[in-house]
Amino acid sequence: MLMTGLLLAATLGVSLETMPPRDPHSDANTAEVVVRALALDLDVDFDQRRLEGTAELSLDWKDPAARQVVLDTRDLDVTSVDVIDAAGSPHAAEFVLGKRDAILGSALSVRVDTQAPTLRIRYRTSPDASGLQWMTPAQTAGKQHPFMFSQSESIHARSWVPLQDTPSVRFTYTAHVRVPKELRAIMSAPNDAAHALDGDFSFKMDKPIPSYLLAIAVGDIAVRPTGPRSAVYAEPSVVVAAAKEFADTEKMIETTEKLYGPYRWDRYDLLVLPPSFPFGGMENPCMTFATPTVIVGDKSLVSLIAHELAHSWSGNLVTNAAWKHMWLNEGFTTYVENRIVEAVFGKAEADEEFILAADELRKELSETPKPDQRLVPDFDGRDPDDAGSDFAYTKGAWLLRTLETSYGRDVFDAYLRGYFDHFAFQSITTDQMLAYLDENLIRKHAGKMSLAEVKAWIEKPGIPGDAKVPSSTRFEAIAAARAEWLADKRNAEALDGKSWNTQEWMYFLDGLPKKLSTSKLVQLDAAYHLTGAANAEIARRWYLAAIRNDYKPARAAMAEYMTRIGRRYLVVPLYEALAKTPEGRDFARGVYAKAKAGYHPMTQTSIEKALNKSPGHS
Ligand SMILES: [Zn+2]
Repeated sequence: MLMTGLLLAATLGVSLETMPPRDPHSDANTAEVVVRALALDLDVDFDQRRLEGTAELSLDWKDPAARQVVLDTRDLDVTSVDVIDAAGSPHAAEFVLGKRDAILGSALSVRVDTQAPTLRIRYRTSPDASGLQWMTPAQTAGKQHPFMFSQSESIHARSWVPLQDTPSVRFTYTAHVRVPKELRAIMSAPNDAAHALDGDFSFKMDKPIPSYLLAIAVGDIAVRPTGPRSAVYAEPSVVVAAAKEFADTEKMIETTEKLYGPYRWDRYDLLVLPPSFPFGGMENPCMTFATPTVIVGDKSLVSLIAHELAHSWSGNLVTNAAWKHMWLNEGFTTYVENRIVEAVFGKAEADEEFILAADELRKELSETPKPDQRLVPDFDGRDPDDAGSDFAYTKGAWLLRTLETSYGRDVFDAYLRGYFDHFAFQSITTDQMLAYLDENLIRKHAGKMSLAEVKAWIEKPGIPGDAKVPSSTRFEAIAAARAEWLADKRNAEALDGKSWNTQEWMYFLDGLPKKLSTSKLVQLDAAYHLTGAANAEIARRWYLAAIRNDYKPARAAMAEYMTRIGRRYLVVPLYEALAKTPEGRDFARGVYAKAKAGYHPMTQTSIEKALNKSPGHS
């Protein structure tokens, strides 16, 4: 089973590189033709909320009989398609835009008479493109200029560029982007901090990337250096605090290089987006996009940056070939993230973060269908945005921790570095990862862990019974104090919460019982001002406790939080919890009516799903 794909390829005498595995989330005919390069030429129109221009695709034909190119699109308005012959002359080509599928969008099929080297597609995006968010000046921190940014993962690149939108295909790109004069354009390629604001920006990404790493942002964006090869880009009112919070970026890059080899993407810059950004961070190459909700003043949430930086090795360099293999991106990255946190901020903090994640995963066991607890779940027919879960992240990282413990850190670190080198700039499946693991770790160091044991982690639901979790004396002390407070043996002030770091507050709040009396909530709130807490992670957990126990004094600040922030992880669970009672659902609907315009389309979709679920169903 394990070697099937490799053996078949070897028997047929073809290399795997020529047979990308079929990706159920793409209509592209990648067995016949593969896109190798993309050239974008786009106007950014804030009035119309559209990108408009051309995409030129350089084609690598695989099947001599093929006479069509099928591309992925969603809600694109395609006006013309030209085939450009070897002499550079364009010829109009026949094309058909297929019926719109709710998950996949519309396949764009282009007929060709000969296997031309290039296609040029003239198109414009929809104002409702699923991968773009257009913000009015009022929705930004500065209130003066509009802002636009993309989020292409998982399958949203197709809503702003017609292409083969599958992580199994890698391409280089260039882009020429025209924007309003006072604004700066940024892309997932090397960016020039000194570029004049002349309304005309050019980009060149000369390393092959998958489509979900294509990214663009335009806005009133200032720049501050944080190191020799890193800088922070953000709205002017945010950039100073952001540069301070992310001052350890160079230290984190050097740490990761020591472990896993050179950083291969030239610069590592960070773009801090307005608070409506639906994710914590997005590992766009050369330019991580990040939520401002991790800027809390004490660097306690920069593990998010460690995570996005780690993707420069796991994900961007070695990429999952289809979304059901996303643990190859996220599990490996979560593991590497924790190693970076340990090296830069110490083992105690790294252990605390892993314990919190492991506790969270255990809670999700009861809410996640068994088949989705496997590391390679079945994604067919499902939207990868909904099908993914914490299992890919935490269980994936847990498996790598287990391998590290079994083989010893020195052996495992050297192995992992070799893995990144071996598969650099390739898109792979779990079987390919396992074949490499078997040959280069398991067989070389017999008697540690068997291939069957590793496969059990991957193929079985749940968490293996012998999975180890580190201990934390700080957490143990907090658990003891919490128990005494719950038993009325000490008051809230005596918990000593003022000395806790963010992770310790998260641990304390995560461990509160489901039912808590109003007097306990009032005590805690009076002692630590949790209602309205500036730290978004602490506020999220406090508001969840407030909703569970119908603690109304938190409502006004909660509504402000839900309106200001659009990061799905922070706000969607609040909507879900509120929707469990009719009164809570009415309140949530009222908040949503005001907040909706400021939310990203992906956040809107998740919240509407939560609000429309029948009550009592979690
Ligand atoms: Zn990630």
